[in-house]
Amino acid sequence: MRRAVYPGSFDPPTLGHVDVIERAARLFDELIVAVAVNADKKPLFSLQERVEMLQECCAHLPNVRVIQLQGLLARFAQQMGACAIVRGLRAVSDFEYEFQMAIMNRQLAPDVDTCFLMTHQHYAFLSSSIVKEVARLGGDVSPFVPPTVHRRLRQKFPPPSAGEAEQGENPSAGGE
Ligand code: ADP
Repeated sequence: MRRAVYPGSFDPPTLGHVDVIERAARLFDELIVAVAVNADKKPLFSLQERVEMLQECCAHLPNVRVIQLQGLLARFAQQMGACAIVRGLRAVSDFEYEFQMAIMNRQLAPDVDTCFLMTHQHYAFLSSSIVKEVARLGGDVSPFVPPTVHRRLRQKFPPPSAGEAEQGENPSAGGE
């Protein structure tokens, strides 16, 4: 049984993440998607919401489990009986941080190797942060996220109603 852990913030999951999950699920017998609390960043979605979204996105993959990441990743991977940590690489800019993390994790857990999957070319520019920024400003992010994530983003950032949009375009309208 070859098990791997794919850790991340997934705030929110994008089609880039789902692509990595689908490919890793083919490479390993079992894939554990581990959702990090991420104390440093203030997430848009709660841990519970991120776990739920990923469970919905992975419902078609029987060998994928989604759970909360508790504590140190290297120890977590060992406790899960994983032989690998999966990470995605988009651009050279990802490399330095990922390299540092992989070397540190190897020191902490020499029996767990980090396995990098190169992004699909369609998703090379895609990040959770850019999706949040576009959604916050009212742009359409439906080509970049799974439908469940799109729905939840619309709840967080409801599109302005027709009346509000008109007022926004002409603030003096109806002011008398
Ligand atoms: P973290 O805070 O751990 O970087 P993210 O949710 O941003 O969490 O990313 C989790 C992993 O998914 C990272 O390895 C990241 O490089 C990878 N990833 C994010 N977006 C993409 C994408 N569009 N294509 C491939 N990998 C991606």
